[in-house]
Order: sequence, then structure tokens, then C-alpha cells
Amino acid sequence: MIAQRIRTNRFSLRLRLLFILLLSAFVLMLIATFAIWAEHHRQSHKASQQEILSIGSLVQGSMSRAIRMQAYDVIEEIKAELQAHRRIQRVVRVSEAAVVIDAYHPQFIGALAQELFVGLNKEQLINTSQSGLLASEFVGAANKYIVYVPLVVPAVELGKPQRHVLLFEYEHRDDWQQALQHRWLELLLALGLLTTAGLLLWWYLQQKIASPIEHLLQAIEDFHLGKTLAITQAEPLSELGQLTSAINNMVARRQQDEMELLKLSAAIEQSQDGILITNKAGVIHYVNSALLSLSGYKPEELIGQNPRIFGTGKTPVTTFIDMWTTLNAGKAWSGEFINKNSSGIEYIERQTISPLRDPQGKITHFVGIKRDITEEKALAQRLHFLAYYDVLTHLPNRLALLEQIAVRQKHPTTQGLLMINIDRMKFINDARGYSYGNQVIQRFAERINALSPHFLAHLGADSFCILLTENDKIALNEQCQQTADKVLLASKQPLNVLDDALVVSCSLGISIANTLTVGDELLQRAETAMHIAKRQGGNNLAYYNDVDGKQALLMFQTEKALRLGLEHNELKLYLQSQLDEQGQLAGAEALVRWQHPSEGLISPGVFIPVAERSDLIIALDNWVLQQSCQVLASWQKQGKKLTLSVNISPRHVRHVDFVSDVTRLLDFYQLDATALVLEVTEGILVEDITASIAKMQTLAALGVQFAIDDFGTGYSSLSYIRNLPVQELKIDQSFIKGIPLHTNDVAMVNTIISVARQLGLRLVAEGVETAEQNAFCQREGLWAQGYFIDKPLPVVDWQQRWFNP
Ligand code: C2E
Ligand code: MG
Ligand code: MG
Repeated sequence: MIAQRIRTNRFSLRLRLLFILLLSAFVLMLIATFAIWAEHHRQSHKASQQEILSIGSLVQGSMSRAIRMQAYDVIEEIKAELQAHRRIQRVVRVSEAAVVIDAYHPQFIGALAQELFVGLNKEQLINTSQSGLLASEFVGAANKYIVYVPLVVPAVELGKPQRHVLLFEYEHRDDWQQALQHRWLELLLALGLLTTAGLLLWWYLQQKIASPIEHLLQAIEDFHLGKTLAITQAEPLSELGQLTSAINNMVARRQQDEMELLKLSAAIEQSQDGILITNKAGVIHYVNSALLSLSGYKPEELIGQNPRIFGTGKTPVTTFIDMWTTLNAGKAWSGEFINKNSSGIEYIERQTISPLRDPQGKITHFVGIKRDITEEKALAQRLHFLAYYDVLTHLPNRLALLEQIAVRQKHPTTQGLLMINIDRMKFINDARGYSYGNQVIQRFAERINALSPHFLAHLGADSFCILLTENDKIALNEQCQQTADKVLLASKQPLNVLDDALVVSCSLGISIANTLTVGDELLQRAETAMHIAKRQGGNNLAYYNDVDGKQALLMFQTEKALRLGLEHNELKLYLQSQLDEQGQLAGAEALVRWQHPSEGLISPGVFIPVAERSDLIIALDNWVLQQSCQVLASWQKQGKKLTLSVNISPRHVRHVDFVSDVTRLLDFYQLDATALVLEVTEGILVEDITASIAKMQTLAALGVQFAIDDFGTGYSSLSYIRNLPVQELKIDQSFIKGIPLHTNDVAMVNTIISVARQLGLRLVAEGVETAEQNAFCQREGLWAQGYFIDKPLPVVDWQQRWFNP
């Protein structure tokens, strides 16, 4: 098809070659013809001149002789002969002055030669006459020669020769036909040669140029139609061969590029991200299928459009300004848009737009890669919320507070932290359940949030923190105090929880940062202060001071060491005797000691309060309980009817496992439960009273006895005791100390004795240090325990003392 087109195309190489060859042949022919003509022209002039010369010489001699001999008839004859020549016209004899002396026509005699001869050269006439040499002159206009033949005539005067000149016209013949007639063979030969050479050249060019190019074109066209490229490379070194090889290389590279392109376009098409390409004016040229499913549009709805089609008008203008500034600077840009799909549903999209450049580096297109990050965003927001906010109150949490402290620390201000803890929250939870408790916390949070404009965080459970910032410490102190007052005052107003109007008090701790205090420290100090306020009975405010801080640190370290100590079996069980009213050994109290590897023996007065801050006390109590039960079991095996009193922390009583902890040991050691006395303090009356009483009753039903330890120091009224399943009251040693001298103590002890009697309770006096006190006990029918009898001893020593004296 291409070959066909080439043959019929007037611009085709074949036709051009033909045309050029024909033109060249024509020009060559013209040149040859002209050359032949010029040669002929030259030859014919030469022939004319030769003939003129020979005729002239002949006539000159004959005429000169005839004139000298005055043989006029001969002159006439010569003239006639000349005149008869087929090319000679007009023959005249003239004088030097060009006056006609003889003429072929009598009429011309005496006339002037110029009138007869067109183009006669008078000067030549004179020259010829003077030189005596034959001359001729060609008159092109008339295509003739004028021949000047000098004749010598007899002198009129002596010594001076006189000359005539014979003039005649010689017709010059020089025409085409004549030339061709003469040269037709040469011409034909030249034509033949030219044609052959032309044909050969044409054939050669056909073979070497036109045909290979046609093949090349055909192969390229076939390649375009999907066939494999088959170009035969005939002469590798020729320009065409090199062209072929260049095309082959180019095609191979193109095929490689196409493969790459194919892979790339497949990757783009199958990309999970939406991809779109626009021109520089923002007109969409390409969209991949992920983009179609992301946007919900069909390709024809997007191609030719502007990406504005996705816009909602909600993306900040600054985003677009930033985008165009970056893109116009030739850089890639990344950002987020609020866009909508074809159904108008909005989504958040992250887009990266990169400029595409042509080989000259000019930006021609933009490629946009889009991803719907709505869910990702929501998840991130949710995660952020979970990380930085409390789920219950939606207030910033501990982490957010610490960050806020860190941020504010960068500015030259002073920070103060007000920690708020709801009092008796556990009691509320236990009594009314967690969902009620949660509502209390929420209402409380709302209340304090409305109180001050400062940053409020919910640290979890019933703890809150207000972060205050002022320019100087005095203002900050004032601000803290005012805020604390507000909180304390506000907490006096009942909270509306469900249908209740509940009044909750709270304990407040304030810590003021110095320049080096970090967030954690500030928080810890506020917590320490809050705990101090709590220890003071709650509904109170305390400031952190360094002593408290050091104490808190010590407690923290002690707790850590005690945990390890418990694991490493560093606790020791000591026993202190109890004598009955007759002064007979009736039982003992188990008292724990901590044999610290480096600190030595540590008193329970130091570590029990630390253990009571957490469930560590439960582990500790259980250890003592287990050791005591073991001791009791061995006594019972030996038939000794002694009681063993074990101290139980109120926290342990409130713990869900309290009853099972005790019953398990009773079962394990097969104990007579009546010998086990569990000492509890009035602290159990502060929280979960009902549950605690129920647990005590369960154990009491098994025979376990209960004693109220340190009786008289607590704030419980005696009437409470009535409801408790207790068999024993241990009068606190502070009252015993005053016996017999301090009448108040004596009166107090007597009151306790009378109430106990009424309730049928056994009474034990603690801290009996003197004989009087001991005598008092025996007299009043009290059991006695104290240094007067013995100091607490390790179990083995105690047994040694009493059983094997
Ligand atoms: P507590 O239960 O009231 O124990 C009596 C405390 O008074 C014991 O102190 C005892 O050594 C001390 N004491 C006894 N007689 C006298 C005396 O004549 N004069 C003076 N000044 N003190 C006397 P200890 O052993 O240091 O225990 C202190 C407190 O630690 C106990 O008071 C008890 O509340 C607690 N505790 C001791 N062991 C345990 C235990 O195993 N579990 C629990 N939860 N608490 C324990
Ligand atoms: Mg005790
Ligand atoms: Mg006591």
C-alpha cells in the first residue's frame, strides 16, 4: 500500500529521480546540441574564411595582372566569374576613396561603396589599400562577409603606386538543419549514451535508494499494524544501512520503553490510590479505576473537566494557596482536601501532586495521587481522643496534662497544680454500684469544670487536676488558694445524680513548680499534698512541702522493698503473751517484723502503714495468718488451749477474698476456729460496713473470734459495737498508760469496762507496763498484754519461754 502510494505520489523519490534524470538528459542534450551547433558555426566560418581567402588570393592575382595589362575583358570575365559564384553577390572595384570604379552593374559605377555595401568598413578599406593585404569582415546582421581584395593599378604619377580594392559580398551559410545534417550521427550517439547512462543511473538509484526506502517504509507500516519489525539490512556501511540499523535500534528501544510503559500503566491502573493527570491548565486527561471508584464518576464525566468537580468549598483557601505556590515553584505538594464524590458524599482526601516536565524542563502536566483518609482520620481522632482524653468525662487526661505542663514550661511563667480527689468514692461505688459512681464523677467533673477557666484534667477514677499559670509565685499562690476555695465551696452543694441529691466532699493538694520541676514531679507532689489532706480527714486542702515529699518517696521505696522482702521471706513472726484475769497464760498476739537485709529489724509501725496503701497489706496479712495458723495447729496438736490473735487490716476485711483466705487456712490446718482471734480496728466501720459485718458474721459462724483493736481511739460510737460480731475489745495502750494516775484514763477505761460487761465482751488491756497496771487488770477482770509480761518474741523463743521454761 505504501509502495503504491509512493509510485503514485508526485513527491515520491522514484518520480523525483526520474524527473531529475530526464531533466539532466534534456539539459545534457541541449548542451550537446549547443556544442555541436557552436562547433558547426565555427567550422562554417572557418570554411567561409578559407574559401574567401582562396577566392580572394586568386582574384587578387588575376585582377591585378589584368589591370596592369589593361586587359579589361579579363577584368570583366573575372568579375563575371566571381558574380557567378553561388555565394558571392555584388562585386565592385573601388578606389581608395571608396568610389566605385567597376561594378557588376553599370549603374553603380561612380557611386560610393558604402551605399552599396551594408556594413562596409571605410577604415578597413583604407587599411587594405595601404597594406596590400587581403582582408574580410563579417557582417552578422546580414550574415555575410565583406571581402577587401587590394589591387595594384599602374601609377598615374611616378613613384607613387595607386591601389584599388575589389569588394565583394560573400554569403555565409550556417543553419540548423545543415548542422544537424552534418552532425546527426554524433547527436544520436550522444543521445544514446546519455539515455543508457541515465537509465543505468536510474536503475542504480532505484535499487540502492528507492527500493530499500520502500521496503523500510513497508516494514515500518507492518510494524505499526502489529507485525514484528523485519528490516533487512543490505549494506550496513551505507547511509541507508546505517539508517536501517538506527531504526532497528530505535524500534528495539521503543519496544523496551513500551514494555516499561505497559508495566507502569498497569501499575497505575491497578493502584489502590486514585490517580489523575491534568494538563497545565488543570484539565483532566487521565483517571485510573481506583479514582473512579473513589469518586463514583464515569471516565467520560471526568475527562476534560477540572478537578474542581470534586470540591466542596470546605477546604481552607490557604491549602490551595500553599498548593499553587509549591507547584509553581516546580515542587511536589502534599496536603488534604475535603472533597465530595458523585453522590455528594464528603470525604477527606490526602493528595500528592507532582509536576511533570517535558525534556526541556517545562511543566506540561500534573499528576495527582489521591487517597480517602476519612476513616484513617476518624481513627486517628479516636486514638487521639483515647490517648489524651478521659472516656467518662471527656476531659483531658493525665498525658494531656503532662504535655500541657511541658508546653507551658517553655514560657517564663510559674505553674501550680491543684489536685482534687473525691472523698469516699470507693464507699459510693460499693454502696451504689459503678454506674452510679460514674455519674457522680461526671457531675462532679461538670461542676468543677464550670468553676474555673483553667486547664482541667481528669486523671482517672476520682482524681482531677487543675493547672494554673501565673507570672509570679505570689499571684499563683493566690490563684491556687482561690480556686481551691471555690472547689471546696462548690462541693458543698449537692450533686444531682439520678434522683438523688448527693453531697460529696473532696481532698485537695496544691503543688507549686519551681524552675526545675518537671510535670511528673509536679503531679506527684500535688498527689502527696492531696493524700495529706485526705489523711487529715478529707474535705481539706494541703500544700506540698519537701518533708512530705521525702516521706512520700520513702514510702514508695519502702513499699517496693517490702514487696521484695515478702517474696524473699524476710518477714518474721513474733508473739506477745496475753494473760487472763488470774494471770495465767491465755493466749498470744501475733506481731510481724521485717528482717531487712541491710536495715536490720524493722518495726511494723514503719512498714504496715506503707503496706496499707495498697493490696500489699493483704499479701502481708495472709502471710501472718498462714504462719499463725501453723503455730496454732501445732499448739492444738499439743493440746494447748490458747488463743492466738492475728491483726487484720481493714483493707483486707473489705477485700473480696477475705473470708475464703481465712476458711482455706482453717480447713488446711484443721483448726479449732474458736482459738483464732482476728483483731480489726474501728477503721472497718468507715467504709463498706454492711459487707464487712456480713463477712465477719460468716467467719464468726465458723467459730472465729473478733476483737476490736486499739479500742477508744477511733471515732466509732459504742453503739456500733453492738452490731458487730465481736467477742473482745482491746483497750488502747494510751488509756492503760494513765492507770492508775490519770483519772480521765481511769474513767474512760471504767466506762469501756462497763459497756463491755453489758455486751458480754472480753476485755484485753494493751501496753501493760507496770505491776499496778497488771494488778488493775487482774482486779477488774481484764486480760493483760504488755512489756510487764513480755516483749514480743520470735515464735521459737516465745514457745521456749512458755512451754519449756
Ligand atoms: P497492735 O496490734 O495494737 O499491737 C500492739 C503493739 O503494741 C505492738 O507493736 C506491741 O509490740 C506494742 N506493745 C505491746 N506491749 C507494749 C507495752 O507494754 N508498751 C508499749 N509501748 N508497746 C507495747 P508492734 O508490734 O510494733 O505493732 C504495731 C502495730 O502494727 C500493731 O498494733 C498492729 O496494728 C500492727 N501490726 C503488727 N503486726 C501486724 C500484722 O501481722 N498484721 C497487721 N495487719 N498489722 C500488724
Ligand atoms: Mg493488735
Ligand atoms: Mg493495739
